[in-house]
Amino acid sequence: MPTVMSMMDREFGAMIAQELVASGVQVVTGIGVSAVGVDAEGQRIVTLADGRQIGRPRPVLRGREAGSLAKLAGLEIGPSGGLIVDEFLRTSDPHVWAAGDMVEVVQKISGRHIRIPLAGPANRQGRIAASNALGAKMHYDGALGTSVVRSSRRPPR
Ligand SMILES: Cc1cc2nc3c(=O)[nH]c(=O)nc-3n(C[C@H](O)[C@H](O)[C@H](O)COP(=O)(O)OP(=O)(O)OC[C@H]3O[C@@H](n4cnc5c(N)ncnc54)[C@H](O)[C@@H]3O)c2cc1C
Repeated sequence: MPTVMSMMDREFGAMIAQELVASGVQVVTGIGVSAVGVDAEGQRIVTLADGRQIGRPRPVLRGREAGSLAKLAGLEIGPSGGLIVDEFLRTSDPHVWAAGDMVEVVQKISGRHIRIPLAGPANRQGRIAASNALGAKMHYDGALGTSVVRSSRRPPR
């Protein structure tokens, strides 16, 4: 996407990007990731669609679309078609964490491993996966997957 947090106005995206850069994060926008691999020295390397390579990253995969990239990277996929992660949201590659719609999580009541593509769990998982990629040991305990719907028409008084 052309800016970070593309659901917001570009001006806000630019402000958020500035904050990230000020915190030491390298921000790359407007280009997709084409591959996640390993270089000649065995170090993990991310290749962008224009061929640029970013070395020694801490990849955190997000979203539905990243599923195909995960398959290309040889990460283990569960029966639901989601990425298998442990309680620290680490994939079958110990150097890659994953969060969001693409991961299989434990449904807290049934105990089954399923995909729960909702924004709340994705947000929490993203925070935990990123923290763990930076050395924390935070657990993700699963989700309920509840939804609330309503009619757009007000009920008669
Ligand atoms: C129409 C619609 C309505 C929804 N309504 C609700 C709702 O009311 N409540 C709710 O809880 N949830 C809702 N959801 C679900 C919610 O949007 C998702 O669960 C949430 O956005 C998942 O977050 P994510 O980070 O896993 O994936 P995404 O938000 O999809 O983020 C994935 C990101 O990865 C990027 N990406 C993908 N491939 C690459 C690549 N190769 N290189 C670089 N970047 C890449 C994408 O551009 C995207 O920015 C809705 C979803 C849709 C589609």
